[in-house]
Amino acid sequence: MPPMLSIDEASARLTAALSPIRETESLALAGANRRVLVDDVYAPVSLPPFNSSAMDGYAVRTADVASAKTELKVVGTSFAGKPFDGAAAPGETVRIFTGAAVPAWADAIVIQEDVERSDERVIVSEAVQIGQNIRSVGHDICANDLLLPQGTKLGAFEVGWLAACGVATVNVVRPIQVALFSTGDELQDPGQPLQYGQIYDSNRATLVELLRSQAVTVIDLGRFPDDPASIETALTTNIGKVDLIVTSGGVSVGDSDFVRPVIEKLGELSFWNVALKPGKPIAFAKLNETWFLGLPGNPVSTVVCYLLFVKPALDALSGVPYAESLTLPATLTESVRHTVGRREYQRGLLYRGDDSMCVKPTGDQSSNRLASLAYANCLILVPEEQASIEAGRVVDVLPLPREADHFIRMSAT
Ligand code: AMP
Ligand code: MG
Repeated sequence: MPPMLSIDEASARLTAALSPIRETESLALAGANRRVLVDDVYAPVSLPPFNSSAMDGYAVRTADVASAKTELKVVGTSFAGKPFDGAAAPGETVRIFTGAAVPAWADAIVIQEDVERSDERVIVSEAVQIGQNIRSVGHDICANDLLLPQGTKLGAFEVGWLAACGVATVNVVRPIQVALFSTGDELQDPGQPLQYGQIYDSNRATLVELLRSQAVTVIDLGRFPDDPASIETALTTNIGKVDLIVTSGGVSVGDSDFVRPVIEKLGELSFWNVALKPGKPIAFAKLNETWFLGLPGNPVSTVVCYLLFVKPALDALSGVPYAESLTLPATLTESVRHTVGRREYQRGLLYRGDDSMCVKPTGDQSSNRLASLAYANCLILVPEEQASIEAGRVVDVLPLPREADHFIRMSAT
């Protein structure tokens, strides 16, 4: 058996091997969420495009209101989308609302709370600074400045940012084609009765959802028995047709683990033995023009290997530049058992304690226990060289935002 590769070395090999897909397409912005930009996008217009009012109030000349208790005559109104197009002489003002164009002669907005109004007159009671409550042209971004660089993965905020500048179409990488299958004689589909010795195939369901959260076309090939011939057929019928094949199970060294020998027959295995817990057997290979990631069958290992290897592979194929993930320091509320050797990613619940961020491991950390993930909102990083860690010590955690949550929940329910 080859020596275990460190996670860093394995990740470096993976990202060095994968280069961005060159096929691109032009898409309407409304359908471009999750896609990755292939061009730098420059702002076609400035934001705001005109000097606009930040508040409801009155547009004034500061020269008019130099002394306290100045009285001004209201000669019109500027609404958002309906600018005031008349003139105003010194000593005159215009009623204005948030988002409305500031008339060219005005250099400040006095908020309505700072005036006394009677009929068509207002008395300004507070001192006025030049530019106050005015959002000047280009305050957000100037026309022709870089709006978003190539390699940006679009999410709701980026889509909004492009829409704000009037960008209607974007050039993006085509979706990544990923074929997926699970292996195991013991697997059954949810909805079918379980025979003695069978379990339900949960990995495929998890991976389909994880992959769908990215710009991926998922080809779900189903599940295959522990039989080298059927695994080989499943692979060969997809090599050259998809960018990446992901499998679960059968990648270890047991008597019914056939994925690795089949991979070695069909292509070039880069690594399969990584100093990681959970998830030591994880195979990365190239099968002609198709990449291959074989994940271990234990459901928690599958998820951790997805996060550490599949997701970075999708990013690399899409041209998203590598960036380290945010870790946060948190105080362990319980001791963590660990033996030196492999880096471990335990599942935890991160919450705000009285004095610091705290993290509580989510019970038994066996790699088959999906329950350890169901209530987790972070992974606890236990470094390779670290032995067991006492409660009260500070550890690094990786927050795990749920796709549909946005904010991270601090409770298990
Ligand atoms: P393997 O990696 O094939 O040795 O499987 C390791 C463990 O994960 C075994 O207990 C399998 O029964 C379980 N397992 C394998 N594939 C799946 C799957 N698709 N869903 C749930 N558990 C699985
Ligand atoms: Mg198996």
